Amino acid sequence: MQGRVLLLNGSSWEPLAVVSVPRAINLVLAGKAVIVEETGRFLRTVGANFPVPSVIALRTYINVPRRKAHWSRKGVLARDNYTCIYCGVRPGDIVRGRPLTKADLTVDHILPRSRGGKDTWTNTVCACYQCNHRKGDKMPGEAGLRMLWEPKTPRTSYLVIAVGTGPDAWKHYIEVAGSNG
Ligand SMILES: [Zn+2]
Repeated sequence: MQGRVLLLNGSSWEPLAVVSVPRAINLVLAGKAVIVEETGRFLRTVGANFPVPSVIALRTYINVPRRKAHWSRKGVLARDNYTCIYCGVRPGDIVRGRPLTKADLTVDHILPRSRGGKDTWTNTVCACYQCNHRKGDKMPGEAGLRMLWEPKTPRTSYLVIAVGTGPDAWKHYIEVAGSNG
C-alpha cells in the first residue's frame, strides 16, 4: 500500500511526522491513534474494508523536544511561499511576457556571502532572479530594494519545510502549526 500519512500529536494536533500507510493503520488498530482525515480509498482486509487514512492523530499528547529547523535552500523558498521578498512576484505571475515558475525564484543572502553572510534563516530570503541580480553584492538598501517582510527562523513549522508539498488534506493541519511559529 503506497502513500504517506501525516501523524499529528494528541490534543495539540501539531504535525509530528510523516509515516507510511501500514504504520498508520497499525497505530490505529493498536488503539494509539485515531483517523482524522480519510483518503476515500479502502484497504481490503479479511472480513472488512479499512479506510486508508491521510491524517491520523495520537490519542495522547506526547512531549516532543522542539527541534530547530535545519536550514536549506528549499526550506527558505518554502518558508517564503516562493514569493520574492523584494517585489512580491510569485510563480504564475507574468514577468516580461511569460509566467514565472518556481525555477525563477532564488535564495538571496541579505548580507552577501562575499561580505561574510551566512546560510542562516534570518540572512536568506526568496528573491526572483531579477531582484537577486539587481542586488548582487549589495545590501538591500544599497541596491534600492526593500524587504516586504522580515525573514524569521521557522519553529514548529519545521515539518512544513520537511513535507514541502503534501496532499491537500494535510494543508489545514500544517498551516495551523506554522501560523503560531
Ligand atoms: Zn523580485
